[in-house]
Amino acid sequence: MALKNIIGQDRPIGILLRTLDRGRIPNAYLFSGESGIGKRSAAVNLAKAINCLDTFHRDDKKDSEGPQVAAYRRTDACDRCHSCEKIEAGTHPDVIVITPEKGEIRVDQIRAVEDALSYMPYEGRRKVVVIDDADTMNQSAANAFLKTLEEPPAESLIVLISSNPDRLPETVRSRCSRIHFTPLSTEACSEVVQTVNGRQATVGSRGKERPMTIDHPLSVIVKLSMGRPGVALSSEPLKERERFLSLLRNMFDGDGEIWTDRDEMERWLDMAVILLRDMAIGKITPDEGVLIHADIGKTVLGMSKATDMPSILRAYHKITRLKGKLDFNLNKSITWNYTASVLRSVLSYA
Ligand SMILES: [Zn+2]
Repeated sequence: MALKNIIGQDRPIGILLRTLDRGRIPNAYLFSGESGIGKRSAAVNLAKAINCLDTFHRDDKKDSEGPQVAAYRRTDACDRCHSCEKIEAGTHPDVIVITPEKGEIRVDQIRAVEDALSYMPYEGRRKVVVIDDADTMNQSAANAFLKTLEEPPAESLIVLISSNPDRLPETVRSRCSRIHFTPLSTEACSEVVQTVNGRQATVGSRGKERPMTIDHPLSVIVKLSMGRPGVALSSEPLKERERFLSLLRNMFDGDGEIWTDRDEMERWLDMAVILLRDMAIGKITPDEGVLIHADIGKTVLGMSKATDMPSILRAYHKITRLKGKLDFNLNKSITWNYTASVLRSVLSYA
């Protein structure tokens, strides 16, 4: 895979390719945007493009891939040379990917990065460090990291990846060139899922994605993943919705389990917003096909019928506002009770 093969992210990929073409790669990037939409893939493929042994060798042969692709031949990764292969396999000595351990990035991981960056590249042009979920850096890690950012070692590139960039210290954010990624269109998301599944069917599972084996139509999973192919490929959306419905039942019964943690609360509220959105659409059209919860469309349309549009919109705005306050460490049970009162005003469920 090369940068040009990343589906549905034309704008950010275009920026990266043009920057590569001008040879003006900064010392630090921040790739922001929701999880599961290709940020990490873009970072790894950027590392490939920078270190590709075949880059800068213009391919003069007639190119069947079209003029735009031909123009980028010079700067994008070839995806065939030793360097590209090693980076893809995660074995290139100059490309390091850091991920949180037990939910956080610790200071010793940042020190290891500093140490690695203090040497010149072994075999590539530039050392590349990718820090995934960079907002999980704890305070001392962030402090140590800031020093590296302030005096970036020569021949190095740091790419921070974050779906919650506002949780990164401003001092860190302001030192990075920011590139924002947005969720994919349903068509592009579906194309990614089909491409990955097709590849896995022939070469077997190599990455963390698993082939989809559930009996649900692809369209339902893609819709529920809201333009995030990484989420669709994890097969999580359906499990998550089952969990959403079971907790919703608890909420209406007034007993049983509630959200286990903040992350679950956040994802659950996302699902609640999707449900309210579908109920509002149900007021406009009886077509189940346009709903995100298309496979349980009858239930959703029933819920929609039992209430009126102003109530749905009021609940929608209240839950959306609540989601915006999640950064303020909301108390779980108070939030649960508040959400229950909002949803009871609009849902006749269970
Ligand atoms: Zn290459």
